[in-house]
Amino acid sequence: MVVYHHDRYSRQIRLAQVGEAGQKKLRSAGVVVVGCGALGSVLSDLLVRAGVGRLRIIDRDFVELSNLQRQVLFDEVDVQQRLPKSEAAVRKLNHINTEVQLDAVVDDLNRGNVHALLHGYDLIADGTDNFETRFLLNEASHQLNTPWVYAACVGTTGVVMPIIPHHSACLRCILDQPPPPDINPTCETAGVLGSVVHLAAAVQFTEILKMLLGHHAEITPGLISIDGWRNRVVRVVVEGPCRCFESQNYPYLKGQSGQQAIVMCGRNAVQIIPSSTRLIPLEEMADKLLATGAMLPIRNEFLIQMHINEYTLTLFSTGRAIIQGTADLATARRLYAQYIGN
Ligand SMILES: [Zn+2]
Repeated sequence: MVVYHHDRYSRQIRLAQVGEAGQKKLRSAGVVVVGCGALGSVLSDLLVRAGVGRLRIIDRDFVELSNLQRQVLFDEVDVQQRLPKSEAAVRKLNHINTEVQLDAVVDDLNRGNVHALLHGYDLIADGTDNFETRFLLNEASHQLNTPWVYAACVGTTGVVMPIIPHHSACLRCILDQPPPPDINPTCETAGVLGSVVHLAAAVQFTEILKMLLGHHAEITPGLISIDGWRNRVVRVVVEGPCRCFESQNYPYLKGQSGQQAIVMCGRNAVQIIPSSTRLIPLEEMADKLLATGAMLPIRNEFLIQMHINEYTLTLFSTGRAIIQGTADLATARRLYAQYIGN
């Protein structure tokens, strides 16, 4: 049984905006953080310390050395162990506040699992690094009638936009479709200033708190853009409600089925998601791969990772794989078929 320590939240409860009643609301709230990189780390830390009742963290990736500059929940041990980010985050957060029900999901959020993973939560927080997933979240938020808070960071700029379906403008209202990957800068191509992650996550957290506490009139409408180098904040007011879904059209939720191979933008990597998710016995698979003469430098309960010439293949227990060292879909599919199967 979880024992609530009132003293933990005393400084937050003292805020007129929160109070005893507000703290109770937070305790009964459930939030899903989709993507646990830089923004997801800082945001999850704030949410857990604030005492939200339930937090689910979904991430498809594992911890690497280049993450540590800004992804505050991870350390060098996580890198050595190649821990999945959601798992490493939950282990860390559990030391911070045992009163929060934490759930790590090591998976890619896609149209196949989006409803199952978001259902039953009060709010969706964007910690992703790509517009494909954000457009999917935008549709899922509308369909499930669950608010979400879009956030992104690149270079020295962070943006945040709170979105309440059927009331405010949505992501598609400001961006008709995802920008093409080659003109869209990412953290990998443009870098990212560590402090701007905190600026954006702080704004995102505050808007989330307003939503969870029911201070709807105080939610900042439209897009908030923060340049952390020049200390310039710009607000772009977009009038709601949105008309994007009047025909109930959800192109990202409908999409094609079958095996998906996705180039991971700016990372020189491809993610392969098998057409049917089945649990792969990793021990068995590791033995099979060893028998082919493959080197298996990393094995843990979540993944195995092997080097094949200039490529690194990481296989997760759901059959999903990330192939680093190529942005070519055909090469990635060939390696997957050759070593893992179809
Ligand atoms: Zn819209």
